Amino acid sequence: MKRISKETVIFEMNRNQPPVAKVASKETVIFETLDCFSNTVKSEADTIKTIDFSKVNPATGPLFVEGAVSGDTLKVTIDKITITNTGVAMTAHGMGPLGEKITKEQTIIGQVHEDSIEFLGLTLPKRVMIGVIGTAPGKEGVNTGTPDTHGGNMDTILVREGATLYLPVEVDGALLSMGDMHGAMGDGEVGGSGLEVAGEIQVTVEVLKQCDLPLPFIETDELYVAIGSAPTLDEAATVAVDQMTQFVMKRTHMNLSEATILLSLAGDLKVSQAVNPNKTMRVELPKSVLKRP
Ligand code: CA
Ligand code: CA
Repeated sequence: MKRISKETVIFEMNRNQPPVAKVASKETVIFETLDCFSNTVKSEADTIKTIDFSKVNPATGPLFVEGAVSGDTLKVTIDKITITNTGVAMTAHGMGPLGEKITKEQTIIGQVHEDSIEFLGLTLPKRVMIGVIGTAPGKEGVNTGTPDTHGGNMDTILVREGATLYLPVEVDGALLSMGDMHGAMGDGEVGGSGLEVAGEIQVTVEVLKQCDLPLPFIETDELYVAIGSAPTLDEAATVAVDQMTQFVMKRTHMNLSEATILLSLAGDLKVSQAVNPNKTMRVELPKSVLKRP
């Protein structure tokens, strides 16, 4: 199995980045990833003012997937994730919805246990997820701190082990990269960071021709999930709902009004993150809803 070193990182998803590895469709590959601070935060004394912002949000890659050409879809199955046993969380003035009110910069180290996170003496749910994952946009590059139609910094807790993520292919080889894993994060990521961890991600990539999913799109055992990123949460909600209605209309014979009412009754519109340059919302629809008796 190919392994992509955490030494090969990019800070912009860009069609001109030279690929660091090449695989065939349906091949499995491991991405080693740094945490979002390039593993530079070593203690709780390292607050945001010590951060080298040129090293924030490294994404390992890009990976060239043979046979992928513009217009295809890249199916990324997240087979397995392992993470380090400590993680870093921080906030500071200007970060997140409460940023204007926060005056004290603070960094907290959390411990990662088998099934939980230990944080300030409390036990938190462990939610291991990938914050940054995407392909290279066809036009201008996008920095790895920003989510958009190519994926990127979507900070969506459902991008986790066992899930399948569908991304657009806009350049030859797709140029997939990923990083910014979290050991825990709540919807919204309101303080501006998750429990930032390094680790390894094993994925299987497959090139799909003629896939009509609205992208980016997630599938879990129970859910279909449409994702929208835009400058405001309101705009991101519009994108996510629009994407999911398109999906429902293609899978059923519903018109737009019917599909919208269906989502109104059975879809959950949720905030993925409210802190990045583009905000991200998602619509979750239980798969069981579209099954006819
Ligand atoms: Ca992130
Ligand atoms: Ca992060």
